[in-house]
Amino acid sequence: MRHELDRGTLQSSIRAAALVFVVAWLFSDDLRAWIPVWLPIVILLAAEVEFVLRGRTERPRHESRRVAPGPEDADLGFGELVEDDDGIRFVPPPARPERARRRLAWAVGGVLAAIVVALAVRSDRAATWQALSSDDRAKAETRFTAEAARIAGASVRVRCDDGYSFTGAGSDTLGIAFPRSGLTYLDPTVCRRLYDLAFRGRGSDERTIDSIIVLAHEAVHLGGERREGVTECLALQAAGPLAVRLGLDEGRARRLLDAAFSSRLAERNVIRAAYALPSSCREGGALDRRPGDSRFPF
Ligand SMILES: [Zn+2]
Repeated sequence: MRHELDRGTLQSSIRAAALVFVVAWLFSDDLRAWIPVWLPIVILLAAEVEFVLRGRTERPRHESRRVAPGPEDADLGFGELVEDDDGIRFVPPPARPERARRRLAWAVGGVLAAIVVALAVRSDRAATWQALSSDDRAKAETRFTAEAARIAGASVRVRCDDGYSFTGAGSDTLGIAFPRSGLTYLDPTVCRRLYDLAFRGRGSDERTIDSIIVLAHEAVHLGGERREGVTECLALQAAGPLAVRLGLDEGRARRLLDAAFSSRLAERNVIRAAYALPSSCREGGALDRRPGDSRFPF
């Protein structure tokens, strides 16, 4: 009995730990980036299989030791002795609602499992760059490289920073350019959003346009521009055609870029001062690459 109890406790602990891990995995980008989803599932499955196999090889417990309470147990509190016209009679306790309870446990477990699966499916849609196959990643980098070269007007290379060597997970450094070697590293989340748009036709919100602006921004740096404000201004203008080439609807791209432009104009805090757009960054201004089209930035 003692042995069985320990096993039950151990199994429950493993299940609880696996559940905690899965929930943490769902809500942490860092965990998702480093640990594939099948790992906890395999561990849990292996634990279940081990328990089943071990249970089978063990000697069965003595059947005779499990007997329902009878009259001799009455003084231990099981059932009760009732006296009526026929004499003293033993009334057994009502059967515990074992089945109903087990059914309820299954139902609760089923609902929990459904919730976990739904969350997993949702998180898959916002999946990571690392989750893509190496073929897909290589294809995507080739495409980003071609687009960056077009904007830079030079031969350049775009790499996605898989290991966060340069971009730092969680930091706001989304891209870094090395103009002398014509190389730029993009944050993996940026790469994934660009990939989703270019290869899966997915994503048309602010995060998508921001990722497009990051690629354009680093490409402008690779073209030789070092001033951040000027670079961002040129990136905002290059981002429109780039977004359309990657598959974004033109009207949608205009609206998103108008919003991005406005929010950057409104940004006047000290930390971002070096990135502030110059006053010539406007329709007809010195930095307007298409003056006279009455549209800015796209
Ligand atoms: Zn920059």
